[in-house]
Amino acid sequence: MGLTTAGTAACGKCRYFDTASTEQVGASLGLCRYNPPMSQSAQDAHGVWPKVETSDWCGHYERADA
Ligand code: SF4
Repeated sequence: MGLTTAGTAACGKCRYFDTASTEQVGASLGLCRYNPPMSQSAQDAHGVWPKVETSDWCGHYERADA
């Protein structure tokens, strides 16, 4: 059975895709804001948001205009 979101879901259309950061990380990249930043192993390193392509997607996808 195929995934129902395949072909329709895309980070670039998701409510959790941070378009404000797109210019900082690249034209086709943005930050996923679904979860809090991920902690890093170095004690003094700050957490990072996952970088995703506009064409990526995951099971938490929600349409930005929904
Ligand atoms: S990784 Fe998932 S939740 Fe994050 S922007 Fe992409 S589809 Fe949305």
